[in-house]
Amino acid sequence: PVKQIIVITPTYNRALQAYFLNRIGHVLRLVKPPLLWIVVEMNAASTETADILRKSGAVYRHLVCKKNMTNVKDRGVHQRNTALEHIELHRLDGIVYFADDDNIYSMELFENLRQISRFGTWPIAMLAPFKNKAILEGPVCNGSQVTGWHTNEKSKRLRRFHVDMSGFAFNSTILWDPKRWRRPTRDPIRQLDTVKEGFQETTFIEQLVEDESQMEVVPPTCSRIINWHLHLDAQGLYYPKGLHTIIHVRCI
Ligand code: UDP
Repeated sequence: PVKQIIVITPTYNRALQAYFLNRIGHVLRLVKPPLLWIVVEMNAASTETADILRKSGAVYRHLVCKKNMTNVKDRGVHQRNTALEHIELHRLDGIVYFADDDNIYSMELFENLRQISRFGTWPIAMLAPFKNKAILEGPVCNGSQVTGWHTNEKSKRLRRFHVDMSGFAFNSTILWDPKRWRRPTRDPIRQLDTVKEGFQETTFIEQLVEDESQMEVVPPTCSRIINWHLHLDAQGLYYPKGLHTIIHVRCI
């Protein structure tokens, strides 16, 4: 049987939200089924998001995270946990992938996910506004073996695995099989929101795998960029009240 892909997307209201959700929705509807898109909002499900999801043509679940955000740096973290709890509660079987709403994804990426048996990773390119360069983050490979990491110097010595949130995927069965977690006594779900910003990925991944030898690279993903992480923060963007555009129907 074809493996299901479970895509987790936290989302929140800002000027380009509708554009971002439509864009990722259009990609996901083209991916061969079975694919489940779990979209999570904070506090309440907005009618605008519900509308976009309904029209996307993708198979989705629209969830709400009620937890109080204690730290503004917890960007999307509680929402991802809500989705993980949902997957665990309903024993949803598939390859889990965290896809932020604002990144750029290729079809190739989603097709490759089905080849992962336990844990897969690949390099992603990051583009920061006003910086005139793209930075790579993720594995350096020899064939399907991980032999090192692309990273930016600042965090080189601190993080165990230099993987972006949208640069890895794993089999959901790991979530309900405590024996398969590296540290079974720790609660893997809570873990995501108790660690410092920037360390969420590595802390999470350290519970899934012992070391690089347990990581799968789906060839030829190591020599191709199959997704981009864009840091496009439109949170503080002035948005004229009452102006309805085709890409966004809400006022902030
Ligand atoms: N996000 C969210 N609430 C927030 C901030 C971010 O739901 O308060 C979501 C956002 O929609 C995206 C993901 O979390 O899907 C990552 O956010 P962002 O792209 O701002 O983080 P960065 O790219 O800077 O790591």
